[in-house]
Amino acid sequence: MVFEQGIKRLEHTAEKIGLEDWILEALKRPKRVVKVSFPVKMDDGTIRTFTGYRVLYNDARGPGKGGIRYHPNVNEDEVTALAFWMTIKNAVVDLPYGGAKGGITVNPKELSPTELERLSRAYIRAIADVIGDERDIPAPDVYTNPKVMAWMVDEYETIVRKHENGVITGKPLSIGGSKGRFMATSWGGFFVMEEALKTYGIDGKTVAIQGIGNVGGGLAKILHEKGYKVVAISDSKGGIYNPEGLDIPAVLEHKRKTGRVSGFPGAKDITNEELLELDVDVLVPAAIENVITRENADRIKAKLIIELANGPTTAEADEILKKKGVIVVPDVLANAGGVTVSYFEWVQNRMGFYWTEEEVLERLKDKMVSAFKDVHRKAEELKDDLRTGAYAVAVERVAEAMMARYGH
Ligand code: NDP
Repeated sequence: MVFEQGIKRLEHTAEKIGLEDWILEALKRPKRVVKVSFPVKMDDGTIRTFTGYRVLYNDARGPGKGGIRYHPNVNEDEVTALAFWMTIKNAVVDLPYGGAKGGITVNPKELSPTELERLSRAYIRAIADVIGDERDIPAPDVYTNPKVMAWMVDEYETIVRKHENGVITGKPLSIGGSKGRFMATSWGGFFVMEEALKTYGIDGKTVAIQGIGNVGGGLAKILHEKGYKVVAISDSKGGIYNPEGLDIPAVLEHKRKTGRVSGFPGAKDITNEELLELDVDVLVPAAIENVITRENADRIKAKLIIELANGPTTAEADEILKKKGVIVVPDVLANAGGVTVSYFEWVQNRMGFYWTEEEVLERLKDKMVSAFKDVHRKAEELKDDLRTGAYAVAVERVAEAMMARYGH
């Protein structure tokens, strides 16, 4: 189902840019789907068998790149869709990568740390033949983190009997992680937001953010420091609003202490639905998918939407927003800061020379700003929205590499 939606968007883009049929046909299928099952010993001595996947969707532009997800809903269709999507995202920001994704069907919250370690190492043993710093490079995704990446790198290096830490990104700093990785998605979103405000001449001083996790909380901190007014922010239990602007460090402290943003002194409690419809310049969905739908799109008052979450806007809502003249910077561009700094991590690993945080952020800004310009130019050329522009830029880049390899 999920994969079908990706293919529909691909077909729409192919029509817009006049893509050659054989390339469209090739892009409708993953290059390689690896499905593995492996037994893992539990702490009580019993053995459970798990299923995992690693899909390399396309590698015309370079090795595969994409995260590994631990979730009970992980299945082949979802991993394939996410691998397709990474192909697009990596090409939008012009990284020398194809697209890939992996996952294990598991509820990691049910496992102890030692069970999680054995699971992660067993998964790497099962897929070791198809990954490598010049084959396919995994990274963290939902419910995986730098600790899990460290176990995976260690297992892989044990198998190949040499150091090869560029095989996985999102590692702890002590074993080759990059400075700036933790806030990379938030910084990437910030750079793109400033570029969009400038390009469209929007005076964007007030911002509402849905989600105060790694990405939303990070952006809130950056915006606060840069003098923007974050007037609303939320978590899964609800949001808060103060038209004069929130004291973000104090909100983060309140969230840390109480586990929620609601009840913050000096702000009004609101629902997540109300947050999306506030009269603000910029709206940033940074939590979950499908929150802007045909039910509420007409009531959105923001002039600019920066999609830091994956898939927050439905296709029907997109149409409504387009008619209303709301500018949407799509997820494949807006939240690509994370994978971009993953790429920087891989570059540093291969050089064995490490950059300062300032150098990382400066290079990230260059990448994000030029990706925004490419996408904006393409959208203008096609007389369509930025999402179509982004897909067109990406598909053209992948197609060019495929033509170079297989065409005449
Ligand atoms: P986190 O888990 O750190 O934070 C998620 C935030 O969303 C939390 O504040 C959570 O609330 C809130 N939330 C959860 N459910 C709801 C809901 N139903 N309504 C409103 N808010 C909700 O995730 P991240 O910040 O890492 O990721 C956020 C989004 O960004 C995801 O879509 C992710 O796929 C995307 N993304 C993340 C990247 C990264 O580098 N981390 C890279 C690219 C995309 P609570 O605090 O109550 O749990």
